[in-house]
Amino acid sequence: MVKELVENALDAGATRIEVDIEDGGARLIQVRDDGGGIAAEDLPLALAQHATSKIASLDDLEHVRTLGFRGEALASIASIARFALTSRRHDESTAWTIGATGEAPRPAQHPPGTTVEVRDLFYKVPARRKFLRAERTEFGHIDELIKAVALAQPRVEFRLTHNGKPVRLLRPAADDAALMARIGEIFGTDFPAQSLRIDHAGAGMRLSGWVGLPTASRAQADQQYFYVNGRLVRDRVVTHAVRQAYADVLFHGRHPAYALFLEIAPEAVDVNVHPAKSEVRFREGRLVHDFLYRTLNEALAQTRAGVGPHPVHLSSQSAHLPPPAGEGKDSLASQPWRAQSGLGLAVRESPADYAALLGTALPRSTSNTVASDETASNDVPPLGFALAQLAGIYVLAENANGLVLVDMHAAHERITYEKLKNARACDGIRSQLLLVPLSLAVSEREAACVEDHAQHLEALGFDIARGGQQSVIVKRYPGILEGADVAGLVRDVLADLVAHGNSRRLEETQNEILSTMACHGSIRANRRLTLPEMNALLREMEATERSGQCNHGRPTWVQLPVAELDKMFLRGR
Ligand code: ADP
Ligand code: MG
Repeated sequence: MVKELVENALDAGATRIEVDIEDGGARLIQVRDDGGGIAAEDLPLALAQHATSKIASLDDLEHVRTLGFRGEALASIASIARFALTSRRHDESTAWTIGATGEAPRPAQHPPGTTVEVRDLFYKVPARRKFLRAERTEFGHIDELIKAVALAQPRVEFRLTHNGKPVRLLRPAADDAALMARIGEIFGTDFPAQSLRIDHAGAGMRLSGWVGLPTASRAQADQQYFYVNGRLVRDRVVTHAVRQAYADVLFHGRHPAYALFLEIAPEAVDVNVHPAKSEVRFREGRLVHDFLYRTLNEALAQTRAGVGPHPVHLSSQSAHLPPPAGEGKDSLASQPWRAQSGLGLAVRESPADYAALLGTALPRSTSNTVASDETASNDVPPLGFALAQLAGIYVLAENANGLVLVDMHAAHERITYEKLKNARACDGIRSQLLLVPLSLAVSEREAACVEDHAQHLEALGFDIARGGQQSVIVKRYPGILEGADVAGLVRDVLADLVAHGNSRRLEETQNEILSTMACHGSIRANRRLTLPEMNALLREMEATERSGQCNHGRPTWVQLPVAELDKMFLRGR
């Protein structure tokens, strides 16, 4: 009900919406807006069944740009509760009010705009009252709804009260800073610095918004907002495309946070498939899926170590402080950046007017310019120069911001994995001859699998023959994995192959096998690296896509800025 009323206010062009709730909505739901208002003679019509001012013809239904279009909400609400609709048009000097009982509108006091007052929900249908859950639960749903609606309406002010107490105030965002503050209000203050900004147009669509860094993933899928032409929807095509885009950079069971806005020609999407209009049907689902997947995959590929937002905040306290304005590198580094823009942004008018705000409020830049800006002032590369190795695990380096810590195994694993994927996609993974063929004792299933999957193994850079009932002979292995423990590598790959069984599954799990291989080919803990080797690792990280996190989504690097160190030592206080 709150959703319908708020959407009506938005359809009426409101810039300010106040929602007052009592007893979780059971006693009062009141929505007041400063939108266009309703003329006195139209008030009875607004309450009539199937009466809408938003669609005049069947053709209009194909091009719906308003949130409402069925003309059912007010009629149904008025039939189950004590109801009053009060409104004043902007060009009128009097306001008018009407109840549900069918009497003529009476003059009333009201500023330009509309108020809908719903009291004693379900008083006529007591049986349904018991379906209302506890007051706090119901109010929680309302608060969630206001947040979700507000995300798509950055220019509109939202106020929410419960039992007379202000609970949420979302100010209109006129510039980038205000927009980020509002995003932080909804997602948590860390989110702006822990997310990538998306803005990409193509294939007749535009996708904009924010996606959380893989290293800032969540245990629940509770912060996933996807809008189609300003309308919040849940859609399987969308969920699948997002999950696939994150597959390579996220732990199993972790969920990304995102707010994404898809603009698409209204005729390419059917919004009339669900009573709450929370589901849509894309006319060309495959096209939408591929556009989403490609855009997000590309954006996430840019999560290179040393570029963009830091993957981890060392002190949670500082994470809550906004970056000091205009403080050069620091503020730049903690700002989310545009993952994509480039392509001609052929943007149509949008009901949410969202893209327009993004387009004007933010400086245009691509990830590449961010990267070069960061290094422009001096010749220190993003991850700096190596200083030492710590505990046989970490590489310490100094860059323009201060200290950089790198988990050398995690970083190298990602580099090797990306190399393997690239090689497979280009001219295949090159194999290297073992001077002495290696005979391995394996299970009978694994030995048989060598014969069954000879082609797959070849594509992965292996030449392995069956030696006997329970043995195999390794003749060649992938050259990229030079120095790997070949026996361990082959055992793990065979185990993967056996586990993933038939070849269709194998296609889908190719990357998992490559990831297993990458682990074997990567520097182990306690391996001593020389400074030139450490620097080579840092340079490779900078050049490798997705190198900001390991194959499982853990961060590969952490920045400890000098300012943080100063704080630790209480300097400059
Ligand atoms: P719908 O939104 O599908 O048109 P509703 O039952 O929600 O149907 O509303 C019926 C009509 O009442 C709308 O078409 C609109 O003309 C008018 N109306 C409802 N709420 C408002 C409002 N807050 N401001 C202006 N007009 C409104
Ligand atoms: Mg409506």
